[in-house]
Amino acid sequence: MKDYALIATSYNNEIRMYLSKTTNLVEEARTIHQTLPTASAAFGRFLTVSAMMGLMYKDGESLTLQIKGDGPINTMLVEANSKGEVRGEITNPNVYIRAKQEGKLDVGAAVGNGFLHVTKDLNMKQMFTSSTELVSGEIAEDFASFFVKSEQTPSAVSLGVLVDVDGSIRTSGGFIIQVMPGASDETITKLENTINYIGPVSRWFDEGKSLEDLLSALSNNTEKILDKKSLRYHCPCNKDKFAKSLAALDNETMNELISDDGIEIVCHFCNKKYLFSKEDLLKIKSEQK
Ligand SMILES: [Zn+2]
Repeated sequence: MKDYALIATSYNNEIRMYLSKTTNLVEEARTIHQTLPTASAAFGRFLTVSAMMGLMYKDGESLTLQIKGDGPINTMLVEANSKGEVRGEITNPNVYIRAKQEGKLDVGAAVGNGFLHVTKDLNMKQMFTSSTELVSGEIAEDFASFFVKSEQTPSAVSLGVLVDVDGSIRTSGGFIIQVMPGASDETITKLENTINYIGPVSRWFDEGKSLEDLLSALSNNTEKILDKKSLRYHCPCNKDKFAKSLAALDNETMNELISDDGIEIVCHFCNKKYLFSKEDLLKIKSEQK
């Protein structure tokens, strides 16, 4: 089944929910970046929450999110947009740290202490960046803190990536729950109890239950679905875009590449390779101002 997200309101419009199933896109990211299990879980959680966050924006707007920690993963960067497309890169994909608890991965140790930076491109002259300190490096808590501190929206975030014994992604998904202004204490308490009762989302999906089932359970059957969006890992790179970057090189560097008989450029987001021959480079050079 394809990855998708549901956007809904519940509890008499007091709560807004974003839910997603992202097994395929996280598996694609794992294949591209060859992540080991703990890096797969960290990167997968990050891609999942970013994909949902992208849906909070309008057509043409986009987000660049970065988690920079002092753990072995170092830095993860994700771009997300309102069409449900994400792509990302990870400094060190070779991270496999088991947690003390049997069968769990220690994402917090793999990410470490550091910051979450979110840059919004709202199609205006300047970009907007806000940063918050990581709470635990477990991603979900870090984003919940970001939403409260930076967006002034009390939120609950749950993210789960289940890595199979062969290292592939078995299930992945999550939810962001936002408390709307004026929500009653009764609703908040009820919601908190429900979230605790539901437990990890990866287990929920592993039991074969759907996103719609999860929404009904979280909402105590009060949900109204506003939208359903498909999600995917998508890199829009092409040879022209890389040619533009090459055109920005100074003369000396350009001549070096030409005397090297060309260059192969690898996209950091999707690993696609673009070969620029000597002739390609001479043509780019001749078009330089
Ligand atoms: Zn690419």
